[in-house]
Amino acid sequence: MSDVTLQFLGATQTVTGSRFLISTTNSKVLVDAGLFQGPSEIRQLNWEPFPVDPKTIDAIILTHAHLDHCGYLPLLVKQGFTGKIYCTKYTRDLAEVVLLDSAHIQEEDAKYADRKGYSSHKPALPLYTIADAQAAVKLFEVTDFRNSTNVTSDVVATFNPSGHILGSSFVDITAAGKRFLFTGDMGRPQHPALVSPDAIPAGPFDAVITESTYGDRVHETPTSDFADIINATIKRGGSILIPAFAVDRTEVILMKLRELSDAGTIPRVPIYVDSPMALTSLQYYRDAITEHAVEIREDVANEWQGRDPFDAGELHEMRTVEQSKSLNDVHNPCIVVSASGMATGGRVVHHLAHMLPTEKNTILLVGYQGFGTRGRQLADGATVVTIHGEPVPVRAEIEKVEAFSVHADGDELIEWLKQTQKPHQVFVVHGEPKSADTFAKRLHDDLQWNAVVPKPNEVIEIG
Ligand SMILES: [Zn+2]
Repeated sequence: MSDVTLQFLGATQTVTGSRFLISTTNSKVLVDAGLFQGPSEIRQLNWEPFPVDPKTIDAIILTHAHLDHCGYLPLLVKQGFTGKIYCTKYTRDLAEVVLLDSAHIQEEDAKYADRKGYSSHKPALPLYTIADAQAAVKLFEVTDFRNSTNVTSDVVATFNPSGHILGSSFVDITAAGKRFLFTGDMGRPQHPALVSPDAIPAGPFDAVITESTYGDRVHETPTSDFADIINATIKRGGSILIPAFAVDRTEVILMKLRELSDAGTIPRVPIYVDSPMALTSLQYYRDAITEHAVEIREDVANEWQGRDPFDAGELHEMRTVEQSKSLNDVHNPCIVVSASGMATGGRVVHHLAHMLPTEKNTILLVGYQGFGTRGRQLADGATVVTIHGEPVPVRAEIEKVEAFSVHADGDELIEWLKQTQKPHQVFVVHGEPKSADTFAKRLHDDLQWNAVVPKPNEVIEIG
């Protein structure tokens, strides 16, 4: 009987809320502390007591700065966690931005709900505050890529570039002699700025915990759709709104727009980045390119020294609320890139309310749209969406381009995982039930791995 267990505290049979607890006789280490996002019954899980006393957790390993991986950290700290949060340099920098933004949105939403009187809580409560987020940020401990770090007396972790976003890693963890491979979120080989995921270190692994966001799909090969949609919209005098995750998706979109504009494939129109978080993130990407960071592609770092790969010529950085509101009065065609990526919050919601009722505009969905989000409603053809309690008619064109995904698809995940020998145990997480089940079956069929889709809060002995 093994003394090492793994408990699945989130991202089981759902995409968000990544939280996995490794327990040995001497220590408890949590891998990721993500927020549940999506429909209200999923978000409600964030309000439930954490199943394990946060005071008893010794350390946290953070794979990357997306909210569904780091967004619960302030609540753990609020409930008594005092250990270190290990991550790479840019994960720390980006997570700070993401957590402060998340806390700000939650405080604002609570105030807004109070004013409009549509909250069931009186007064409406934020999940956590800016002060809680700041307390969490103080616990970050930066580690280098590809170097092993002693996380507790019997847990050692090595972070390796995963090509998903700046700072992102898959993590090789040894806990009391048992070896784990956590994929975190796995990127794709063709990111315009980031290196491809590192090779898997020599095994064997006792347990592999793999994401499966797109486990049931194969990404379409990029087509000219993106440029065609932009050209058609501009031709009819409309503007394009691109809801984009502030971290990474915005950078990928801006690099594509610059490439198309440089090539003359699309006309040069003003491009507004309207998200303070996206703009801070953008600066970190520029810094990483300037300093040839480990996870930046060598060719990109060399080509763009002293130049801005994100500016197609008319890039406007909208930082203040006044600047954001001024976009309501722009009459010539333009492109607005704004967060959040699934239109669940942030400034993009105000732009949607403004742009959706006008036929000539286009809402261009470029990323994963989680179940129950406003983005998914639009993707699924809703004719009316509710914004801040008001019905808004959907008259603008709704277009989807999936080629920008920064998640590996089923084929790419299999191709990457097959580098390692058959692990003793395999767990499929971070996917909606259909994706996770399909990917578990593929692991069985393609690699003869016996993969399990764990249940919420399930505890499994390792080895
Ligand atoms: Zn991610």
